[in-house]
Amino acid sequence: LIERMRPFTSTIFAEMSALAVRTGAINLGQGFPDTDGPQLILDAATEAIHSGENQYPPGPGVPELRAAVAHHQKRFYGIEADADSEILITAGATEAIASTILALCEPGDEVVTFEPYYDSYAASIALAGARRRTVRLRAPDFRFDDDELRAAFTDRTRVVLLNSPHNPTGKVFSRAELELVARLAVEHDAVVVTDEVYEHLAFDARPHIPMTTLPGMAERTVTISSAGKTFSVTGWKIGWLHGPAELVAAARAVKQFLTYVSGGPFQRAVASALGLGDDFYAGLTAGMQAKRDLLCAGLRTAGFDVFPTSGTYFVITDVASLGYDDGVDFCLRLPERAGVAAVPVSVFCDDKAAARTLVRFAYCKRDEVLAEAVDRLARLR
Ligand code: PMP
Ligand code: GLN
Repeated sequence: LIERMRPFTSTIFAEMSALAVRTGAINLGQGFPDTDGPQLILDAATEAIHSGENQYPPGPGVPELRAAVAHHQKRFYGIEADADSEILITAGATEAIASTILALCEPGDEVVTFEPYYDSYAASIALAGARRRTVRLRAPDFRFDDDELRAAFTDRTRVVLLNSPHNPTGKVFSRAELELVARLAVEHDAVVVTDEVYEHLAFDARPHIPMTTLPGMAERTVTISSAGKTFSVTGWKIGWLHGPAELVAAARAVKQFLTYVSGGPFQRAVASALGLGDDFYAGLTAGMQAKRDLLCAGLRTAGFDVFPTSGTYFVITDVASLGYDDGVDFCLRLPERAGVAAVPVSVFCDDKAAARTLVRFAYCKRDEVLAEAVDRLARLR
């Protein structure tokens, strides 16, 4: 294995899920819902399979899905997108991220991102031979220091890799924060690659603001999302990216040699589901917000120090309040000790010491599962 990939031989999600299965623990580690998406999307996939749509779909994605994504951008954000040249369907958001970074970064280029960061960011940057420069989101409210962000930009900065709503913190970036990122990107002529897979999971009536809607940003922003989160079908791996034709063409050049295409029948199904009514989208947000409330209240009762989360599937806690001094060790023992799995936040950070006692829990689970998990965790004390 090449040296720069050696730190990435396994993912924390696979490790903790395997541990959860082995011990029979409730898996609040890896973020995936334990109920399927809406019946319509399941039926549409079956129908596509039975109607013989089982061969390679077109390289950029089935036209119906590209049109549906374009329509979604218009419907929710007022953005005009050309379905043929400005949208690319990918094997999940993961491939969208990898293809974009690989397409835009020469070895030695720099990518500014925030930490904790989603694990695939570091791996994609490493694959490209680029260098990551991280800016810390600091507990409890996960704000960043403006000067630290400014200092992360250099004359080698090529991309800013942004994620809002943010995994693992649950932070939803404010307009002012996005404006500063945008200003610095323009000053340094950088592209903003923005991972918005949790776009429909921002809570407390907080608006999700797509970076591309900020003045002057559409021409330098690649927006990424995924059906996995919006329709609770994380195993289908249908994602997409949207941006100016030139950037989309660049990502497409790489993407076609990573997977070429994927999931034809699933692409069809996602195309139908994107057109679901406002009640579906509102129900998704409200449902997940209620789950957040349930888990956070339970964790607090169990003695965890719980940080606010305004979006995603996740909440970060500090286990120091329970007398533990190492989150990795805590997570490795938690399945045996309490029958629950979680993930240590330090694995998403360059500055491991700063996140040493932080642990992430996922709340995208059935209410009764969350209730049982909280009961088990309460016995830790
Ligand atoms: N970005 C973030 C922030 C995520 O949390 C995830 C998945 N959980 C992904 C990307 C990957 O999405 P996909 O499964 O569609 O590849
Ligand atoms: N995004 C999910 C999480 O953060 C996991 C996805 C994966 O396993 N790659 O838990």
